[in-house]
Amino acid sequence: MDWLINSIGRGKTTNSRGKTVNEDAHKEKAQIMSRTLSCGLVANVTKDELQATVPVPTGVDNNEWLATNTLSFFKHIMLVYDSVSEYCTPQHCTAVSNGAHMNFTWVDEKGKKIRLSAPQYIELVVVNIEKLVTDENIFPTKYDMHFPANFVTIIKKIFRMLFHVLVHVYQSHCDHLEESNQLNFLNTIFIHFMYFQTEHGLLDSKEIQPLEDLIKSLCL
Ligand SMILES: [Zn+2]
Repeated sequence: MDWLINSIGRGKTTNSRGKTVNEDAHKEKAQIMSRTLSCGLVANVTKDELQATVPVPTGVDNNEWLATNTLSFFKHIMLVYDSVSEYCTPQHCTAVSNGAHMNFTWVDEKGKKIRLSAPQYIELVVVNIEKLVTDENIFPTKYDMHFPANFVTIIKKIFRMLFHVLVHVYQSHCDHLEESNQLNFLNTIFIHFMYFQTEHGLLDSKEIQPLEDLIKSLCL
């Protein structure tokens, strides 16, 4: 089983309003950036302070640090998503892309690609991550247990899935977060998440393309 997220309609597709997909996508990105940059972070936290928290502290095991932070990112990103989940319906966040949004595809064990709406995809993300983080053979909590040899590969997979959730929330639910004054919470988590993944090499550059412009604007 694997997960992927695709950017679709690069320039050739035309949507129902006759504009090119790229035109819509560009406007959408500009809107996300201007909102994010004007909103800022949660009170009293600076980007430098967030960046200073990401390296492995002296004396702490690398895998233990990855495990602890991954659980924390999972919890906080899902808290943000939960706060907009009432708006995240298959009707609002449909599988059929309007061009500016991402296209969620799940690849099953046989390699078959299944198009999903965002809430369906995110539900599978949650189930998948919960299954991993509650497996004692992967995230050991007992003193005599050890992390598996492929632990970093599993962490990378979890980060990919969490990044997809962040992409969707930025692309489709900024309005809802702004209304409830939680956009700064999303920004803070996102900046921390990006500093952490950069420090530990958890996402490939092609994987962060959907929010590339925002990442550049934030100087991450
Ligand atoms: Zn949604």
